[in-house]
Amino acid sequence: MRILVVEDEHQIANSIKKGLELEGFAADVAYDGIEGFDLASTEDYDAIVLDLMLPGMEGMEICRKLRQEKIHTPILILTAKGQLEDKVKGLNSGADDYLVKPFAFEELLARIRALIRRPKAANGTTLVVGDLSLNPLTFTLERSGKEIRLSNKEFGLLEFLMRHPGQIFTKDQIIGHVWNYDADILPNTVEVYVGYLRNKIDRPFPKKKALIHTVRGFGYKIG
Ligand code: CA
Repeated sequence: MRILVVEDEHQIANSIKKGLELEGFAADVAYDGIEGFDLASTEDYDAIVLDLMLPGMEGMEICRKLRQEKIHTPILILTAKGQLEDKVKGLNSGADDYLVKPFAFEELLARIRALIRRPKAANGTTLVVGDLSLNPLTFTLERSGKEIRLSNKEFGLLEFLMRHPGQIFTKDQIIGHVWNYDADILPNTVEVYVGYLRNKIDRPFPKKKALIHTVRGFGYKIG
């Protein structure tokens, strides 16, 4: 899952990015509104954290323009205390949620997770594919009741696939959702990570059906 953080206060922006990466997300930061809008409109994000007061282009305008261009990435607005009117305007201009500064990182994280899973709210927090279950909140993975340990990136890749069971993704699409803009990842890297996942999820369970599938000429899917 890949998040864009648009925030001109470097310290806040960088600490959000760092926190998200520790939780297994990929995160990009834009320190001004123009770069933020550019990234939001050209890259694949699963959610956008958007400050309101920004140099170049204000948060509200970014929000409106993205929605005008039919980009429906969930947006969480960051607003300073006392800008209550702005909050209402933000939600009218197409944002999905807002958070008042200063906030606790845990709160931000909970809101982001809620936005990302919103389309599948009925599933609750645990993602299940066959006998594989992944809980993004506790960072745990089990197959047939047996716990499996993953690195941050493996977890990020598996979470992305498990949020879209049965759907085929190309390596480029996977890179777009799992790695950040600066990561400079080659398609081969995706192959390597899919291999790591197979070694942990499918190989140790030879009597079970393999869950990770290569669709020749297209990409990968889980199911
Ligand atoms: Ca600001």
